[in-house]
Amino acid sequence: MAKKWPMHASWKGPIVLIGYGSIGRGTLPLILRHIGCQPSQITIVEPLDSFKSLAKQYGVNFRQAALTRENHKGIMRPLLASPHQALIINLSVDVDSVDMMRFAREVNALYIDTVVEPWAGFYYNGKVDNALRTNYVLRENLLKWKKRLGKGVTAISCCGANPGMVSWFVKQALLHLIHETEARYPKPKNREEWGKLAKKLGVKGIHIAERDTQVSSRPKPLGTFVNTWSVEGFLSEGTQPAELGWGTHEKKLPANARKHRRGCKAAIFLESPGADTRVRSWVPGIGPQYGYLVTHNEAISIADFYTVRRGKEVTYRPTCHYAYHPSNDAVLSLQEMFGRGGTHPISQHIMSPEEIVTGEDKLGVLLYGHKKNAYWFGSELTIEEARHLAPHQSATGLQVTSAVLAGIVWAIENPRAGIVETDEMDFERCLEVQMPYLGPVNGYYTDWNPHKGFDGLFGGPPDKKDPWQFSNILVK
Ligand code: NAD
Repeated sequence: MAKKWPMHASWKGPIVLIGYGSIGRGTLPLILRHIGCQPSQITIVEPLDSFKSLAKQYGVNFRQAALTRENHKGIMRPLLASPHQALIINLSVDVDSVDMMRFAREVNALYIDTVVEPWAGFYYNGKVDNALRTNYVLRENLLKWKKRLGKGVTAISCCGANPGMVSWFVKQALLHLIHETEARYPKPKNREEWGKLAKKLGVKGIHIAERDTQVSSRPKPLGTFVNTWSVEGFLSEGTQPAELGWGTHEKKLPANARKHRRGCKAAIFLESPGADTRVRSWVPGIGPQYGYLVTHNEAISIADFYTVRRGKEVTYRPTCHYAYHPSNDAVLSLQEMFGRGGTHPISQHIMSPEEIVTGEDKLGVLLYGHKKNAYWFGSELTIEEARHLAPHQSATGLQVTSAVLAGIVWAIENPRAGIVETDEMDFERCLEVQMPYLGPVNGYYTDWNPHKGFDGLFGGPPDKKDPWQFSNILVK
């Protein structure tokens, strides 16, 4: 018998989905499954017509256009004309998230996206200082507008898997740690209490620790960049400087690190591209692994969210960063690209769910440095299960699209929250919506630490006293 899926909310107004790429295609059927609405209410805005016929099969409208700084309002306005409130879902590349949020505020539409995306040109501008190509700068602009616009119609920033779901995992993992370490601490009610909880538990840092083992039936052609999600998205973030939330337990900045002069100051960046900067980390089932220190919004927002202050003095902050081992084909693609001097690949390919023969995406948070050493909590979703659960999804994709769904439900239930980051949302409600799509979601304790990643032949770890120093995590 076909599974009966819950209807989480209903929506009467127009829904505009910007970008019909791998994430957009996976999100559409989840909206139709869980949000009470008609396909005729939905319009996709997408420059390419490659998947137009698929969209038509769902009965939705298709507007072929590339949004730009100049034309976005003109194209969007007619699509939102209705006596009912509209919902804008931005799942594109090269469409500025903050400008879209400001437009959504103008027209009183709910809004959600999965990254703080800039207009085309930002990521590859070699004429500006690297500091101006960071996610820190993009997030600070978001925070500026969050403050300036104040309360109003809800606009959710960065609500994918990571950034997004992993912020909900951090909270859940902290609550597990209370239980395990028998700390006496009530469930936090606000940001300050969450920070104090992480401090009390002794969490020195958090990795967003991911391993993607999905494999295609077709061997990777030489020179083609292959990935399990947006190649453009991965190339742009992978060639930004590596960035990380910088914790209070750290003793020494890396030699190529730089601080920011303005803003929340929760993060630093390195003068090296994230997808060519390796870190030591750990995921269950695989064990110790190298991951890439690719910049991600959550590395900054989580470090900022859990910062504890006494007056102006910062008394606690966890180090936080991504430690991403993408699919083997993507690792090889990076090797080829950086070998070519970082030039854009001539051809690119996103593995379709149908061509993936095996593998899974283990995506979780590794909370380290506390009494129980380290704790990974996350989703271990196989391609088989992803395909079974919903159409047009790789395992990676479903972890993202189900977070978008959770964010849409939360926005409909909380329509006047203003601009919010996922750290500020009700993590229990969001995970409740998302959980059926995540495969096994489990927690694992490990006795691994980065000291164990050194073979001892070349002098061992830089910091011999505290294994959890970033100097031990960074691979030189
Ligand atoms: P994709 O490359 O498959 O699709 C992006 C789509 O945007 C493409 O179809 C492209 O034609 C369209 N597009 C490009 N320029 C546009 C414009 N000017 N106006 C409208 N549409 C335009 O990417 P994807 O894998 O679907 O990812 C979509 C977005 O989601 C990316 O920004 C990516 O970084 C982000 N993402 C976030 C997470 C997360 O966990 N937070 C995970 C995966 C992807």
